[in-house]
Amino acid sequence: MKACLLHSPAPVETNPLVFTDAPDPQPGPGEVLVRVKKCGVCRTDLHVVEGELPPRKSPVIPGHQIVGVVEKSGPGATRLSPGARVGIPWLHRTDQTCEFCRQGMENLCDHPSFTGYSVDGGFAEYVLAPEDFVYPIPESFPDEQAAPLLCAGIIGFRSLRLSGIGRDGRLGFYGFGAAAHVAIQVARHWGAEVYACTRGAKHQQLAMQLGAVWAGEAAAEPPAKLDAAIIFAPAGELVPAALRALKKGGVLVLGGIHMSPIPSLDYKLLYQERVIRSVANNTRQDGEGFLRVAAEIPVRTRVMLFPLRDANRALNDLKGDRINGAAVLDCA
Ligand SMILES: [Zn+2]
Ligand SMILES: [Zn+2]
Repeated sequence: MKACLLHSPAPVETNPLVFTDAPDPQPGPGEVLVRVKKCGVCRTDLHVVEGELPPRKSPVIPGHQIVGVVEKSGPGATRLSPGARVGIPWLHRTDQTCEFCRQGMENLCDHPSFTGYSVDGGFAEYVLAPEDFVYPIPESFPDEQAAPLLCAGIIGFRSLRLSGIGRDGRLGFYGFGAAAHVAIQVARHWGAEVYACTRGAKHQQLAMQLGAVWAGEAAAEPPAKLDAAIIFAPAGELVPAALRALKKGGVLVLGGIHMSPIPSLDYKLLYQERVIRSVANNTRQDGEGFLRVAAEIPVRTRVMLFPLRDANRALNDLKGDRINGAAVLDCA
């Protein structure tokens, strides 16, 4: 098969992914082999490729927002038939035995593996996944529309849940990329008011088109105090600005897997029971819950399509803030 391989992490400006032939994967027990149609490009892929996340496998095929069809099933995998359309997310597998898994928090599993990081992902024509960790994709979504739902969408949804936002709540988004452009649709569906703090006129415009009540620069102060805020940008320097925008008792959710250092804070920014919390990975329940809501709304994603062989270009455009919405690779 054709695939984009990362041999060792390097700045994306050096085009570190190599488009080449790779061995065809064979499904093991409980696994399905999936023919990849589309694979979304996530900021986490950028962190993997550039080495902000320490390498777990080398070479590795990145990509964890995969939409494809089941080609064949390994021994004991009987749930999905060949031809079934499925989505494969970041959470590849959990041990299901650690204390976190046993308490319904498999996103915090002690021995997890992750698609496109500790196992090969979807910047390829084929990929393997345990059949228990893939999702059926609601029919209403075309492949390229569905791809960004599988990480940007699911993690955005978990971030929204952890923010505790509800009807008539005021919610701030810091950074307005792939995750925020989906999360705003869910937040509005729930009746929340969204304020978008993001650099660049294009991202601010997209936020307003999607129903934000206000959009301004990344560290700008929104015109109203917020019940909750989510920082999607990997920029620790936004934490004080976001705390300053919160009401007493407000919740600040950090939605990324990696963030630059957070500057020291004056305690009064946090006092009055403001809360800062991070979001890690997803549970299968998040994935299923989100896809159900996404189909109900229905969520619409903005995508920029790139051929599989141009994965380096997609990553460069993501890093350079030139993607409005989500980047998606065409792998078919
Ligand atoms: Zn576990
Ligand atoms: Zn991701």
